[in-house]
Amino acid sequence: MNFELTEEQDLIRATVRDFAAREIKPIAQELDEKAEFSYDLTRKMGELGLFGMYLPEKYGGQGLDTLAYIIAVEELARIDGSQAATLAAHNSLGIGPLYYYGTEEQKMKYLPQLCTGEALWGFGLTEANAGSDSRGTKTTAVLENVEWAINGSKIFITNGSCDFSIGSTVQAVTKVLENGKKEFTTIIVDKNTPGFKQVTMHGKMMWRASDTAELYFDDCHVPESHLLGKVGEGSHIMLSTLDNGRLSIAAMGLGNAQGAFELALQYAN
Ligand SMILES: Cc1cc2nc3c(=O)[nH]c(=O)nc-3n(C[C@H](O)[C@H](O)[C@H](O)COP(=O)(O)OP(=O)(O)OC[C@H]3O[C@@H](n4cnc5c(N)ncnc54)[C@H](O)[C@@H]3O)c2cc1C
Repeated sequence: MNFELTEEQDLIRATVRDFAAREIKPIAQELDEKAEFSYDLTRKMGELGLFGMYLPEKYGGQGLDTLAYIIAVEELARIDGSQAATLAAHNSLGIGPLYYYGTEEQKMKYLPQLCTGEALWGFGLTEANAGSDSRGTKTTAVLENVEWAINGSKIFITNGSCDFSIGSTVQAVTKVLENGKKEFTTIIVDKNTPGFKQVTMHGKMMWRASDTAELYFDDCHVPESHLLGKVGEGSHIMLSTLDNGRLSIAAMGLGNAQGAFELALQYAN
């Protein structure tokens, strides 16, 4: 196995390292203390091309490989976990399901704007009683004529409530079988849909400058065409998305550790 980085990947590391040192480091502590999401930094990360890095150019992406994206997350986390979380959640959890499971029409509608750094997308899986055990999902979606009627709530949804949050992918129960097993389906919900409320959560102990939200669905109706993938495919879509997300979460751990080591070494010297 060749562990050498390509020239392009080396350049991405140097560019993101420089960006993080110049733009993020001077304000990271203040943002963390104030638990403030930075629109300015998010916009700048978008201008740098960090959103949708691995998407083809026709969807607004950079057409880079997964490793380039992982390196970018690692470099951000070396300086600030919050900005790395915003990027990792948006790319892996926000963009991921739309890109891998969306129809061509859904991709063209959402992905280009999600690559700009001025629009973020949430991944709505976790609920108050459905965390590690995502099959505990209680949010329901019922097809009424040509619309899904969604009821329930989600918790801890990254990028789910800031002004840039333009919607979320949501796992809902669409049927309970006779043996008690649930059928899960993923549905796209746009911001400003009546009955959809996005509420910012406060008081986190980490990633304090990232946006974390509760989402509420109160007879929230979306068109039938907002189905993502097929009916009954929801759990597969959400859990395979989390599998991809583990790469960026691991990169965050590595970047955090590297940054902490460098600070400790500097202090010891
Ligand atoms: C900052 C932040 C951002 C997040 N962003 C998102 C997001 O964008 N989208 C989203 O859907 N979710 C998100 N989450 C939610 C996250 O995925 C859940 O917190 C995670 O799945 C754990 O669920 P839980 O918090 O309910 O803990 P629980 O599942 O209740 O677990 C609590 C503890 O019990 C342990 N435990 C659980 N089950 C077992 C078992 N069977 N045996 C032994 N031990 C067990 C766990 O290891 C843990 O230590 C986010 C969470 C945080 C904190």
